[in-house]
Amino acid sequence: MSDYDYDLFVLGAGSGGVRAARLSAQLGLRVAVAEEDKAGGTCVLRGCVPKKFMVYASEVPEQIAYARGFGWEAQSGKFDWVKFRNANNTEVNRLSDIYASNLVKVGADLINARAKLTGEHTVHLTPSNGDAPYEVTAKTILIAVGGHPFVPDDVEGKELAITSNEMFHLDKLPKSMAIVGGGYIAVEFAGVLNGWGVETHLLYRGDQILRAFDQEVREHLTQEMGKKGIRIMTHAEPKSLERVADGIKVTLTDDTELTVETVLYATGRRPHTRNLGLEEIGVGLDRDGAVVVDKFSKTALDHIYAVGDVTNRCNLTPVAIREGVAFVETAFKNNPQAYDHSQIATAVFSQPQIGTVGLTEQDAVAQGIRVDIYTARFKTMKTAFVGGDNRTLMKLIVDHKTDVVLGVHMVGPDSAEIIQMAGIAVKAGLTKAQWDATCAVHPTAAEEFVTLR
Ligand code: NDP
Repeated sequence: MSDYDYDLFVLGAGSGGVRAARLSAQLGLRVAVAEEDKAGGTCVLRGCVPKKFMVYASEVPEQIAYARGFGWEAQSGKFDWVKFRNANNTEVNRLSDIYASNLVKVGADLINARAKLTGEHTVHLTPSNGDAPYEVTAKTILIAVGGHPFVPDDVEGKELAITSNEMFHLDKLPKSMAIVGGGYIAVEFAGVLNGWGVETHLLYRGDQILRAFDQEVREHLTQEMGKKGIRIMTHAEPKSLERVADGIKVTLTDDTELTVETVLYATGRRPHTRNLGLEEIGVGLDRDGAVVVDKFSKTALDHIYAVGDVTNRCNLTPVAIREGVAFVETAFKNNPQAYDHSQIATAVFSQPQIGTVGLTEQDAVAQGIRVDIYTARFKTMKTAFVGGDNRTLMKLIVDHKTDVVLGVHMVGPDSAEIIQMAGIAVKAGLTKAQWDATCAVHPTAAEEFVTLR
């Protein structure tokens, strides 16, 4: 009999933690997961999932406009925020329950409590229902507590702003909103709010939104968002927020003023490691509070691992899941696995969407690779038919010497779906000649990727 209460204790019932816990329990290990909130983590409760429903809901007015172009006598209706919000929350709760029951089904204990490490093998638990705290021991520990929104300290009145956490629970939809930031969350919510008819201002501190993305993608998205009515202000950094009669007055560092009903900060996320007792037992944190791990997701202590956003490597749900799988192979199956973080396909659910995998043109140039660039800009058949103005961008980055496709970028409808498939080809290291040897599926937008000359 083991000296410990559990073989594995997981802190956090998000994507990475739950996957690792389920796989471990299926191996016959005694597993517990502590979660102070509902099961599901950022992705299910206040991220990917409810956001995607928001994207769907906000695209409807444009679809109605398309419908008119196709001969329907469709009328734009009125959007009922409260009805949508409640339905969204119901769906999130349903999915959260599935996460919880999947853990229970494989025999893991799901403990609704705040966990803190008080020893190398000891977890202190403070139950969320107010019951007395207690401690359990575990042979192996996995930290998978994710992150939380970050709001810069140096903004006077910053407590007047909301973050993505609150976006899903607003009492009512504001008439106007300023979104601070130019990353994934900022551009996604800008599209959503604008779709719902909210006067939307995006305030970005740099030259151009989505800093690490391909330059042409950034330019194209900026233009398309602008056409849809989103006001993008660059070099715009708020220095203060002040409550005024008709909303919140945002004053920028150049003294420009803007008054809106709501201010949303989407200025990045930080690992959720405060008060977890990690440094006290020798688990190292970096400057941003991320758990420092090796390629096998192992911390400075041999029996403590960390996966997902808490390690701040590549903060995406599918990555956390893959890291969780690799952890189980490494820790319990005598098969050390380091998840390969290269060439991860990703999508931004902006409007229009972005799909991207591999190198950007500027990355390739910075690495001294001579590249051939293939680009197409066009209106999709659907847009052209209805006389719409939306344009699609598709771009391939090809190594001139080897003909290998190093990067694929798309801005336009269905980019997220298309890039998943392109991701296979990039991961497989296929050449442009092999892409070209693939017969086109006609008529589609995706076929451009095998016909670019
Ligand atoms: P990002 O890191 O993507 O973007 C943060 C933005 O805030 C950047 O534009 C950054 O500017 C700006 N910023 C940072 N600090 C400040 C500051 N002090 N003042 C003003 N602006 C500032 O973070 P997000 O919050 O958008 O998203 C967090 C992560 O969640 C993403 O990186 C992504 O990994 C994940 N995510 C993924 C999604 C998806 O897969 N579709 C959707 C949503 C989130 P600068 O560029 O100049 O640094």
